Amino acid sequence: MKYQPKIIKCRLKTGGKTINEIREQNKGQGLTYRDFENIQKAYEEFDGVVLLLSLWDYDNHESYHVYGWDDEVDEKMMMGIYHAEQTHPFPRYKGKKEEFIADWKAGKYNPGCPMCFEKEDVEELEVIREEVKNMIKYINNPFEDIVKIMNDIDPNINADIQFNPSLKGKDFGECGMVTFPADDSTPLIDISTNIPFEAMIEVLAHELAHIIAGEESEHNTEWNKAFQKIQIEWQLKHEDNGVTVEVAKYEKGTEDGFEYEDELECIDISIGMFKASVVDGVRLYPYVITSKGKRYISEQGE
Ligand SMILES: [Zn+2]
Repeated sequence: MKYQPKIIKCRLKTGGKTINEIREQNKGQGLTYRDFENIQKAYEEFDGVVLLLSLWDYDNHESYHVYGWDDEVDEKMMMGIYHAEQTHPFPRYKGKKEEFIADWKAGKYNPGCPMCFEKEDVEELEVIREEVKNMIKYINNPFEDIVKIMNDIDPNINADIQFNPSLKGKDFGECGMVTFPADDSTPLIDISTNIPFEAMIEVLAHELAHIIAGEESEHNTEWNKAFQKIQIEWQLKHEDNGVTVEVAKYEKGTEDGFEYEDELECIDISIGMFKASVVDGVRLYPYVITSKGKRYISEQGE
């Protein structure tokens, strides 16, 4: 469905303002005393008018945009807008009241910009329609989930992430890689698009763990802890969805041909740690996290 603003029936309460009050409200717009007088006249016409105003997402719902009005207040709207037109930076109807009224009655008048009222000049009477937001959205975006998790773990981490179709083959970096620029600027994560979707999610977590652990981390204890932390947070985020995770015990020494520096101390065995495997000398990620938060053994490497 298309975006639609919130529509509210409102009463304008613009009347009874002194020139000084109007000057204060319109400060810094380069208006003259004559302009303030015209605004005052417009405000007196608008005062008490009941009309439809709209609130929009694009200006953070800050001002009330004129949306429509009934015939019975048309005369007051016409005269109010005529006076407001006198302050227009490029006046088309300066002192041309008859011309303005003729155009108005003929439906030819176009204000050229949205007419707005400030919050303080508006009394809300009734919501006619709630805002309808744009309806195209992701209902699950696991990449975004991981980015949110990272911001919770350490809001000071920076990374640029790109999906890279040129990462393929059997060399290191088949699945993903981090590039730490020599000038200490933002690290770049490449994620291969030639691996299963779920593996891409896990590779993102893997590479972010490298950024937490630092450039020289390889797959040392710091990296393991960081990666585990991301997985635990992921798990917590998705546990309401009935997620179950296989436990993969992860110990000091060599497992699947991959050397681990250290036993993990902080591991929660109910959450588990994924095992790495080596296929043709390339570390692949057989335990991947699905978009529902589950893990399964991928068919990768066959
Ligand atoms: Zn790695």
